[in-house]
Amino acid sequence: MDLVKGKNIIITGASRGIGRGIAVAFAKQGANVAFTYNSSEIPAKELEAELCAFGVIAKAFKSNAAEFNAAHQLVSDVLEIFESIDVLINNAGITKDNLLMRITEEDFDKVIEVNLKSVFNLTKAVQRIMLKQRSGSLIHMSSVVGVKGNAGQSNYAASKAGIIGFSKSIALELGSRNIRSNVIAPGFIETEMTDKLPEDVVAQWRAGIPLKRGGSAEDVANACLFLAADLSAYITGQVLHVDGGMLT
Ligand code: NAP
Repeated sequence: MDLVKGKNIIITGASRGIGRGIAVAFAKQGANVAFTYNSSEIPAKELEAELCAFGVIAKAFKSNAAEFNAAHQLVSDVLEIFESIDVLINNAGITKDNLLMRITEEDFDKVIEVNLKSVFNLTKAVQRIMLKQRSGSLIHMSSVVGVKGNAGQSNYAASKAGIIGFSKSIALELGSRNIRSNVIAPGFIETEMTDKLPEDVVAQWRAGIPLKRGGSAEDVANACLFLAADLSAYITGQVLHVDGGMLT
């Protein structure tokens, strides 16, 4: 089945981890992929070559998702290589964990800027294009932590909960123009972000997963393929939990 063949996709933060997995999954399915990174230039260039080998158009852009003007510049650069933007996947994210007692104002603001403000920046930048097209699928990466909270991650949880409210509002605003907005809330997905966690914390997370394993970037990518494809044409304003049943 041609899920996303010929569609033009933007993915933020795809130099590694979940974003990389999504980029590969879409290119394998015949989608053209424009993706961003912030600092990892070499892995990004390697990924660009890997994606092109699938016979699609693929390009890496260095673009800080937290910067409003950079998002607009990115969209205009992408339109030099794509005729449309069919799917935006807001994936870029960071953690700066600490208990409320120790967290600094700077670390709170930074996480909100990179994880939440970026979603506003990119969505606003593609809105005009999608409105003209009268179609589009917006997919935003939240987290199980944005739904249930997590000690030591108040900044991260706030940013990820904010994404859900933002997406639901955009779904209401843009639904009449055939633009859908949905959230994916991954649970414990094994990437560099989770590699940073202490072993006892990882063991605790795993024990709480009904499917008894951490997820993979591919597990998340499969959910993105569904929300990008016409298979999900009647789904908007939703949160899809890709967490092995963690929230059950
Ligand atoms: P990761 O391995 O740390 O990768 C993060 C990616 O985001 C990298 O490509 C990084 O690029 C990019 N990035 C960071 N800051 C950026 C910025 N300011 N502008 C543009 N790109 C930026 O993280 P991950 O585990 O794949 O997570 C991806 C998303 O899923 C995040 O939003 C995360 O919150 C969410 N998530 C992850 C898990 C999990 O268990 N892993 C669970 C729930 C939700 P550079 O290398 O160039 O900085």
